Amino acid sequence: MTISSFQPPKRTLMGPGPSDVSERVLQALARPTIGHLDPAFIGMMDEMKSLLQYAFKTENELTFPVSAPGSAGMETCFVNLVEPGDKVIVCQNGVFGGRMKENVERVGATPVMVEDDWGNVVDPQKVEDALKANPDAKFVAFVHAETSTGAMSDAETLVKLAHEHDCLTIVDAVTSLAGSPLKVDEWGIDAIYSGTQKCLSAPPGLSPVSFSERASEVIKNRKTKVQSWFLDMSLVMGYWGGGAKRAYHHTAPVNNLYGLHESLVILQEEGLENSWQRHMDNHLKLKAGLEDMGIGYVVKEGERLPQLNSVYIPEGVDDAEVRGKLLNDFNLEIGAGLGALAGKVWRIGLMGHASSEDNVNFCLNSLKEVLGK
Ligand SMILES: *Cc1c(COP(=O)(O)O)cnc(C)c1O
Repeated sequence: MTISSFQPPKRTLMGPGPSDVSERVLQALARPTIGHLDPAFIGMMDEMKSLLQYAFKTENELTFPVSAPGSAGMETCFVNLVEPGDKVIVCQNGVFGGRMKENVERVGATPVMVEDDWGNVVDPQKVEDALKANPDAKFVAFVHAETSTGAMSDAETLVKLAHEHDCLTIVDAVTSLAGSPLKVDEWGIDAIYSGTQKCLSAPPGLSPVSFSERASEVIKNRKTKVQSWFLDMSLVMGYWGGGAKRAYHHTAPVNNLYGLHESLVILQEEGLENSWQRHMDNHLKLKAGLEDMGIGYVVKEGERLPQLNSVYIPEGVDDAEVRGKLLNDFNLEIGAGLGALAGKVWRIGLMGHASSEDNVNFCLNSLKEVLGK
């Protein structure tokens, strides 16, 4: 049997990620591969750092993309900052807080869980109670935009509380970056990680991270070796932070970095605040259309993520059948529920390039047809 080239179908991606990648970014990916220590490539890496600083609203020196998806950015934060025996307050209000707990345990540290129901935001009062009850805690970790439920927690307040109790913060911004207000320096976030395939609309496979001065000091003063060789910042920075003297650590995913660079250039052209506003505007249009169809949201008004619309599946409707029809008849992907919400909700993404009025209308019309409305 001869296997020929793979030709993916052309879909519209309105799930929890990856989101649609624009033609411009796809073309950037197809540019010639060059050496990852080539001076031309190193110039691109320097630009990448300032573009990411722009997107995160930070001046943190230690800002770069980890060569692996969002989960690796998460792990980079935990393995570099947390040492065996440390106590970490972990907020869980969906799937991704549970992964933070896993990371803390695998480092040999102790998680103190602050739990909220799926669909709710992280309750600052519970976090304050946990901080008071655990004066020896060193970190507070939480998810800014919980993609599994569509809830956006108040990052500014949570960081402030953590700092009042001398804790550093580790923040998951995989889905919030470029989609909703996020101000790393103004809010004082210490360690943050994101992903490329959500509101940046680049292909999956890279994880932008940023560490404050305070977090960098903690990493420098570790008593134990980071147990992951690949994610050890002291080694990775010889490559990303080495200036002209960059040393080989691993081969950077050259073409994927072209894609991220292009998507960040597009973000800069649009303007970060304009991108936040576009995500909100399209969310409100989608919400109005869904409510006309009698479809309601999981998350309370005012706590919803504009880029991830978690809505209840109407009574008597077959979840898998509807998503299957949307995919097969309309080439439209929307997301299924995860964990506690599996089978109960759909997750409609309006992320990055996919957050457009055309997509809102396309999704509403396709859904109406499939539901026979
Ligand atoms: C998607 C996502 C991740 C994981 O990112 P991957 O690129 O799939 O590894 C982590 N946290 C949140 C909130 C996410 O939405």
